[in-house]
Amino acid sequence: MENDIQLGRWLEGLSKEKPLVIAGPCSAETEEQVLKVARGVAQCGVPIFRAGIWKPRTRPGGFEGVGAIGLKWLQKAKAETRLLMAVEVASAAHVRLALDHGVDVLWIGARTTVNPFLVQEIADAVEGSDKIILVKNPVNPDLALWLGGIERIYNAGIRKIGAIHRGFSTYEKTRYRNNPEWQIALELQDRLPDLPLICDPSHITGKRSMIGEVSQQALDLNYRGLMIETHIDPDNAWSDAAQQVTPEMLGEILKALVVRNPDDDSDDFVRELSKLRSRVDEFDSRIIEALGNRMRIADKIGALKKERNVAVIQPQRWREVLNRMSSEGARLNLSEDFIQKLFHAIHQESIAHQQAVIRKNQEKP
Ligand code: PEP
Ligand code: MN
Repeated sequence: MENDIQLGRWLEGLSKEKPLVIAGPCSAETEEQVLKVARGVAQCGVPIFRAGIWKPRTRPGGFEGVGAIGLKWLQKAKAETRLLMAVEVASAAHVRLALDHGVDVLWIGARTTVNPFLVQEIADAVEGSDKIILVKNPVNPDLALWLGGIERIYNAGIRKIGAIHRGFSTYEKTRYRNNPEWQIALELQDRLPDLPLICDPSHITGKRSMIGEVSQQALDLNYRGLMIETHIDPDNAWSDAAQQVTPEMLGEILKALVVRNPDDDSDDFVRELSKLRSRVDEFDSRIIEALGNRMRIADKIGALKKERNVAVIQPQRWREVLNRMSSEGARLNLSEDFIQKLFHAIHQESIAHQQAVIRKNQEKP
């Protein structure tokens, strides 16, 4: 799929102000809750109301959503507030019900984007409609799967499309509920610059105290919109209680956001930026040079080990290297996580070099 200038038009028409905000509860719970949150959200000047009607739960026994009855509550909320209504759909049956009830925006959840069969079923069901379709990133960090979901919707003739970045699931505990892996979303933005990118700081952080911070990060990276879970009584929400904010908190978060210019043509800015970028380029070249030199030494170590018939990996030595680099990194204000990832990658490459040397030597008569 190529970039298409039509992709961003729906958003321009909707939100003169930046960013576009979609807000509402994780789940529709009762008619009263839906109406109260919708009123609160409307007061913040938000154009789109979200609510989960069918909830994909990790384990059975959780609250699985109120089902189609919730669509009637959304109709009431829409009639009263004039907000556009957004719901998650995970099957053709959901799509049909949502369309029958005048829902304006359909989003495909992270657990559905991973499944091309379901995405295709949804694409077939929305074919020919002029609804806005938003595709959340898949739960696993896989750009092709995300792009594939967007392409299936595009191939169904839909042009009002957006991508929602809600972070990626990891086995290890991090400070995020779902690790943002910003570079994956930025690569999507690079490939499809006119596709609106919307950040979901609620599911990325899992914590209401971090929503302002991650929303600002998204704006700094030129995201066009935010989806923020908002509830009238967050602590007693039936799903995702820890990450929802009240409409009042939503208003404060939005007020505090600083919207940056996507670019600045003024001479001094351009000059200063290019000066800094050239220094970065210089360091990047030095890094590559140093890595090349390091691997040449790894080749020599490989030859030596082969000669003495010693195994490629000595775990003790590797632990020493990691510990030393972690403490040197800390001194330079480099995060532990970064040092670990960097040196694991370097170690892998080093092993590959040593193995190549050993194999080559083995081929000799
Ligand atoms: C949601 O938006 O409430 C939801 C279920 O999100 P995700 O698909 O990102 O987990
Ligand atoms: Mn949720």
